[in-house]
Amino acid sequence: MKHIVIIGNSAAGLSAAEAIRKNDKGVKISMVSEEQYPPYMRLKIAEILMNNVNPEKLFLKPYEFYKQENIDLLPGKKVDRVIPKKNSIILFDKTKIVYDALIVASGRSANISKDVKGANKHGVLGFRSISNARDIMELIPISNTVCIWGAGIAGINAAYGLSKKHREIKVITCKERILEGIIGEEKARSLENSLREKGVEIIFNKSVVEIFGNGDVKAIKLDSGKVIGCGILILDKNLTPNTKFLENTEVDINLGVRVDEFLRSSVENIFAAGDVLSKRDHQEEYLDLLNSWDSAVNQGKIAGENALKFTQARTDQMIPYADIVQNRQLRILGLTLEAGSGASLADESADLSDCNQEDS
Ligand SMILES: Cc1cc2nc3c(=O)[nH]c(=O)nc-3n(C[C@H](O)[C@H](O)[C@H](O)COP(=O)(O)OP(=O)(O)OC[C@H]3O[C@@H](n4cnc5c(N)ncnc54)[C@H](O)[C@@H]3O)c2cc1C
Repeated sequence: MKHIVIIGNSAAGLSAAEAIRKNDKGVKISMVSEEQYPPYMRLKIAEILMNNVNPEKLFLKPYEFYKQENIDLLPGKKVDRVIPKKNSIILFDKTKIVYDALIVASGRSANISKDVKGANKHGVLGFRSISNARDIMELIPISNTVCIWGAGIAGINAAYGLSKKHREIKVITCKERILEGIIGEEKARSLENSLREKGVEIIFNKSVVEIFGNGDVKAIKLDSGKVIGCGILILDKNLTPNTKFLENTEVDINLGVRVDEFLRSSVENIFAAGDVLSKRDHQEEYLDLLNSWDSAVNQGKIAGENALKFTQARTDQMIPYADIVQNRQLRILGLTLEAGSGASLADESADLSDCNQEDS
């Protein structure tokens, strides 16, 4: 029996699994994810901050779905490396899984520059997962002030989610407005006003240079020299593709996995989809590679179908990817906004930015 392995179980990974199963009832499908949860609506994690909703409410499908569809869900398993020459992946627990085709759908993570002193303190957290949201909730009772570094989609969701917690919330951005490059100025100003009405302070044109504390975050220092006391620093900076497990392999990486029009990497049986794709070097007009939920779903479908065709020796029938998403929707502050044309909801390109590290 052929085996298709998917790394990542979110928008792109689940969509790939569903597309494969729709077209073939027999092929073995394994979906590996370092997260403990089955696929869920990442866009809605702010609801955990706002209303302490049970994570199960965010699940995209009940557990029975994966049993019925015979999709082997492997949560809580982090991939350490891929060995393309042996068609296998190695997990951190040393398990080896052999595949006939692999789909990389591992998304992006926020990162802090090594130039920022004290970055590894307890209380420096991303805001991209249910676990991040739960970790923030645990620290909230002992943190009167929460700082959020970055005013991209995740940072603004976190600010909004926390604004009901009666804590001081400060958003620090190196930009002149929030959600720059994602929504237009008018909408951004209106959202800024809504956030201020909820007690959120927004500090523009500033970056964090140091994090103070003995193990736990106690304060941060801005590039202006100002020190702000806080117990949590939420990071929404410098989103970089999760491709560490592909380092030193034959898979071509350039700020993400490079793919052709069939979403196939430089290795013939490795495909990729979603935020992990390289957004930098596609001169090809047919590729409209944006970071958004809907794009990840569309790309997952195509990568899934093409990986299946590879295992069936029907590569001549692979389908090219064309982004059919017309409107990229953002859901913030209870509003649904259309992102502007060309908007990337999680653009990471630090060196394209006028700041040292780009907000997501
Ligand atoms: C708070 C928030 C709000 C958002 N709001 C919107 C919105 O309103 N509209 C919109 O279009 N988009 C929004 N986005 C962006 C959207 O969520 C992403 O574009 C989308 O989730 C990308 O899907 P993906 O499947 O490519 O990757 P991800 O959703 O990032 O999933 C990648 C998965 O791979 C796993 N993984 C990574 N590395 C490994 C490894 N080594 N081993 C095993 N597993 C691994 C991760 O744990 C994760 O589960 C939002 C994002 C956030 C964080």
